[in-house]
Amino acid sequence: MPRTGNIPEDVDADDCLLNYTYIFSPDILKDKVAFITGGGSGIGFRIAEILMRHGCKTIIASRSLERVQASAKKLSAATGLRCLPVSLDVRQPMTIVTAVEESLQKFGKIDILVNGAAGNFLCPASGLSFNAFKTVLEIDTIGTFNTSKIVYQKWLKDHGGVIVNITATLQYRGQILQVHAGSAKAAIDAMTRHLAAEWGPDNIRINSLAPGPISGTEGFRKLGGLSKAMVDHEKLIPLQRVGTKLEIAHGVLYLVSPAASYVTGTSLIIDGGHWLTAANSMSTMQALLQKPARL
Ligand code: NAP
Repeated sequence: MPRTGNIPEDVDADDCLLNYTYIFSPDILKDKVAFITGGGSGIGFRIAEILMRHGCKTIIASRSLERVQASAKKLSAATGLRCLPVSLDVRQPMTIVTAVEESLQKFGKIDILVNGAAGNFLCPASGLSFNAFKTVLEIDTIGTFNTSKIVYQKWLKDHGGVIVNITATLQYRGQILQVHAGSAKAAIDAMTRHLAAEWGPDNIRINSLAPGPISGTEGFRKLGGLSKAMVDHEKLIPLQRVGTKLEIAHGVLYLVSPAASYVTGTSLIIDGGHWLTAANSMSTMQALLQKPARL
C-alpha cells in the first residue's frame, strides 16, 4: 500500500494505536457517552478508541462477552476512560433492552449510538441459501432498527443525540457476490433518511457512513487481505490504496461532533473513490478471493 506523510498509521489487530496525532480538539466529546454495537472488533473497535481519545465514555456491545471484555480493557488502558463491555444480539430486542438499561444505570445517559454490528461473506445469489440471505438482513437491517428504537425510547427521545449507521457502498451499483449485504445496507440507508425525518424534531441527527475496503478487518481478510491480487486491485482505486480503520473512525468523529450540527439524513462515503471504479465481474472477483466463493 503506497503511503504518504499525511495518511494516519493504523495497526491491523484489534489493538489500540501506538501513536495518535490529534486533528480535532481533544475534548470535542468531553463527558459524552457512546453506545457502539460491534465495538469489540475491527472498525467498531477503532471507532470506540477514537471517540474515547476525545473525551467520550463508551459501551461496546456484541454477542461475545469475552471479546468485548478483552477489548474494553485495552481501550480503557490506552485512553484512561471508562468502557463498559456488554453482551447482546441485535436480533433479539430483549438483550438490547437489558444492555441499554445497564448502560444507563452505569453512565446515566447515551448521547451517541453507532450501529456497527453486521455479518457478511461473499457468495453468488444462486448459491445463497434463503436462510443466509435472511440472517444478514436480520443482523444488519433489523438489528440497526431494533437498537435505534430501543435507545430512542429509553433515552434519545427526551434528550436528543446522534446516530451513525455503518453501511457500505456495495448497494450503489450492485456489487456481485454481495446481494445479501448490499440489500441489507440499502435498507439501512433508507432507514437513515426515514428516521432523520421523523426524529429530527426530537433533536436527533442520523447519518450513514459507508466505508470502502478497510485493512485490518475481518471483511478485508475475506477479500484476500494483502495478497498480490489485492495489491493489483488497489491500483483500480482512485486513491490507489485501501483505507484504514482510523480513517473511518475520524469520519464517525466528525458526524457525531458539533462540526456536523446541521448534517442529518445523509451518507458519508469514505472509500478513496473505490465504488466508482472497483472490479465488478466474476472473473476479477474470483482472482481476488483466497477461497473461491460458493457457487
Ligand atoms: P467485524 O470486526 O466482523 O465487525 C462486526 C461486529 O459485529 C463484530 O464485533 C461482531 O461481534 C458483531 N456482531 C455480529 N453479529 C452480531 C449480532 N447478531 N449481534 C451483535 N453483534 C454482532 O467487521 P468489520 O469489517 O470491522 O465491519 C464493521 C462494520 O463496517 C460492519 O457494519 C461492516 O458491514 C462495515 N463495513 C466494513 C468494511 C470492511 O472493509 N471491513 C467495508 C464496508 C463496510 P460478535 O461476533 O461478538 O457478535
